[in-house]
Amino acid sequence: MDPVLREAIAKVEDRRSRFEKRVLVCGGASCDHLLKGSKKVIDVIREFLKRYNLENKVDVSQVGCLGLCGRGPLVKIEPDGVVYERVFVDDVERIMKKHLVDKEIDERNLLDTNIPFYQRQVRIVLDHCGEIDPESIEEYIAVGGYGALYKAVTEMTPEEVISEVKKSGLKGRGGAGFSTGVKWENVSKQEGEIKYIICNAEEGDPGAFVDRGILESLPHRVLEGMAIAGYAVGASHGFICINSRYTLAIDRIIKAINSAERLGVLGTRIFGTNFNFRIDVRIAVGAYITGEETGLISLLEGRRGNPRQKPPFPTEKGIYGRPTVVNNVETFANIYAIIENGGEWFRGFGTKNSPGTKLFSITGKVNNIGLVEVPLGTPLREIIFDIGGGIPNGRKFKALQIGGPLGSFVPEALIDTPADFESMRRVGANLGSGEFIVLDDSSCIVDVTKFFIEFCADESCGQCVPCRVGDTVIKDILVKITKGSATQRDFDNLLQLVDVIRECSLCGLGQGSVNPLISALKYFREEFEEHFEKRICRAGVCELSHFEEALAH
Ligand code: SF4
Repeated sequence: MDPVLREAIAKVEDRRSRFEKRVLVCGGASCDHLLKGSKKVIDVIREFLKRYNLENKVDVSQVGCLGLCGRGPLVKIEPDGVVYERVFVDDVERIMKKHLVDKEIDERNLLDTNIPFYQRQVRIVLDHCGEIDPESIEEYIAVGGYGALYKAVTEMTPEEVISEVKKSGLKGRGGAGFSTGVKWENVSKQEGEIKYIICNAEEGDPGAFVDRGILESLPHRVLEGMAIAGYAVGASHGFICINSRYTLAIDRIIKAINSAERLGVLGTRIFGTNFNFRIDVRIAVGAYITGEETGLISLLEGRRGNPRQKPPFPTEKGIYGRPTVVNNVETFANIYAIIENGGEWFRGFGTKNSPGTKLFSITGKVNNIGLVEVPLGTPLREIIFDIGGGIPNGRKFKALQIGGPLGSFVPEALIDTPADFESMRRVGANLGSGEFIVLDDSSCIVDVTKFFIEFCADESCGQCVPCRVGDTVIKDILVKITKGSATQRDFDNLLQLVDVIRECSLCGLGQGSVNPLISALKYFREEFEEHFEKRICRAGVCELSHFEEALAH
């Protein structure tokens, strides 16, 4: 083992051996921001330990996401394995006194971790998430971090790294599902000395927080994956482009790069070899369209983030006209496990054609809001009703909106569909980057469809007419339908426009912007007709007569 890694591990082991217990406080944005203030909770715990002379016995640190974001701030006490939920500043004294002084469990805030939300998850990307401080490179190294990079650059040739990634069958987790190994191979075969790696962290979809969760909790895992990609394809420079709204993730990734350079696991002559790799952070403007790879490249080159025609693909002509690997955060975060354990091992998870796991950000009308990782092929029903804990307040499940603004609605009849790339395609949906919005019977499909098309219309870069004008016209018609003022001509126009936009738009945003509408019309057409013909909104959301009122007449 490299002396740098050995020293970091010894440092962590030494610190751990000096304390009897560890109090781990979730330091993700959901627990710390949004007025929950887990950082304040840490301060109050430290004050408590000082008052009770426990400073030398109990260690306190922030860790990555503990999973159940909807019940944060979460606090875990090790080695007891006890998790407390909704721990606000005023709860600290009671919980800590009972647990650390009286040696009893505080039942009031106790979180039952023996539930499917925790038991059914399989963690590859999120392995050790919630156990280590995201801002400590030593803690990452102590759980095996940078071991895969060390193995790649000291024991494997670039061709062997690519072959292992190809063998794993890893598909890009950004939505398109293209083979990561093939993409890397294409770049490695291109002529020329200069090649680049880009990590797309411009996650801008409503309801999405997969990439944010990984960056905030395990920033080094992403850097390690990017460096391995650089070694594999012959690149010595990478960019990570992060959504400007992700302030905590930006802060942590910058700290992670600085500490990795300080230890020499990034920079020049990594692990004493001839491999050099540096990573620069770029803050994206937060425009949805810059999540499209050619739009992202335009932005990084200092131009407006407009997508361009493909081919040429970025693998041939990417940033500054050089061959470029563009993968998203979750894709890079899978690489360490493939190099550590081998491609065959990775294929032991998921399905034959969709190996591995997938992260989902579960939100909406569901009990367990949070970030989960499951094997690809897990039925949607299991994710919603077992892991997600089902629908709150005794209401009825209506649909799953999966894949974000370019995704689709999945009705109850298809809820046993396995969540993998191929099965989703078969039912006209896509996994996107893992957005999972659950709707119950109080949600109006027409209204939700209007929300997504409005989002796409706002985010259109305006280069092509079908997308720029078409989405706005569709939005206006849907507004009319929800207000009860649409005509038959409007409805006919709506159906015609869908085909034109899908066929004639330049990039994925325009082509996919009508996906929610297509699936809504396919599975919930009667709701559109009720709005349009009878002026009824059965969910009581739109400015129309309520269903019961209509029946009473
Ligand atoms: Fe821009 Fe829309 Fe055309 Fe894409 S489809 S290039 S977002 S106008």
